Amino acid sequence: MNSNDIKTVKTLLETSKSIVIVPHKNPDGDAMGSTLALCKYLNSKGHTATVIAPNEYPHFLKWLPGHEDVIIYNATTQKAIEKIENADLIFTLDFNHLSRTGDLEKVLATATAEFIMIDHHQQPADYAVVTYSDTRMSSTCEMVYHFIDALQETAHIDADMASCLYTGIMTDTGSFRFPSTTAVTHEVIAKLIAAGADNANIHRHIYDTNSYTKLQLLGVALKNLKILPEYKTAYITLSQKELDDHNFQKGDTEGFVNYGLSLEGIIFAIIFIENKSEGIIKMSLRSIGDFSVNEFARTHYEGGGHTNAAGGKSDLSLEDTITQFISILPRYKDKL
Ligand code: 5GP
Ligand code: MN
Repeated sequence: MNSNDIKTVKTLLETSKSIVIVPHKNPDGDAMGSTLALCKYLNSKGHTATVIAPNEYPHFLKWLPGHEDVIIYNATTQKAIEKIENADLIFTLDFNHLSRTGDLEKVLATATAEFIMIDHHQQPADYAVVTYSDTRMSSTCEMVYHFIDALQETAHIDADMASCLYTGIMTDTGSFRFPSTTAVTHEVIAKLIAAGADNANIHRHIYDTNSYTKLQLLGVALKNLKILPEYKTAYITLSQKELDDHNFQKGDTEGFVNYGLSLEGIIFAIIFIENKSEGIIKMSLRSIGDFSVNEFARTHYEGGGHTNAAGGKSDLSLEDTITQFISILPRYKDKL
């Protein structure tokens, strides 16, 4: 953050404020970890801060300190609207455009509060008085640490906040293995462990709380995995029926796409997941190296994200989505 932005933030936080903190729709570990850590920090400074998530978050995050107080917009809509209407300040975390909040966008767009964005996605929209955007960052959780550091307040990071921040850095870096993991990321992690983040337990909560039906669904996904060697591409499909047959719960398919990328020689992996209630096919895209799935998702799937991890959607049927996907690939032959 530059010194002007730090000054603006300090001035805004000088007096006690009603603050709302918003993660993106379908919040992941980084979105929930960063919002909950910032929420606890702001409350400890005498503000009244609340996290309002657009919709539900996965079961494997339902141990994060403070998660019980999160307001879910699409479940308790009126309460969320009142909070947003009465807020002086709104932090938006882990997304670059208000449309990433789904139906909550229309409420945020008419809010009178000032906005502060903290985010590491490409092409940030221009709606905030302070836009702390850095695409080189491993995670928004790492940025929240730097944000608190810029306010010279890291001494306020307690074990709960440290656990939340550790969680998001761990999940967004694929457990510290993606190229976005830097020496500074590890320095932050060291400080979070020193502040009380219980790394082994956090890992267990996130990765070792699978249900039997989720592992069976993974089996189906792996059976459905297809390889297109000439494009160094692998894709997985999951139909609504396959999800229903395995008691699908939010978050169950998280990480499945990475299995495609674990194949030797594959640099582009994608999973197509049918969502009958929303009438869409939701996809997660991953790549290794220079091939930008951010651009691919923006061009073809009304989506976006990072160079090596992005998401998007299609309004076609699952079958037609796959046919269309395969027909697009020749255009990318020289990049794949
Ligand atoms: P995931 O595939 O894990 O849901 O998301 C990968 C990355 O892409 C995350 O950074 C996420 O925020 C972003 N992302 C996922 N879905 C969408 C989408 O529909 N639109 C945009 N712009 N970004 C997305
Ligand atoms: Mn993130």
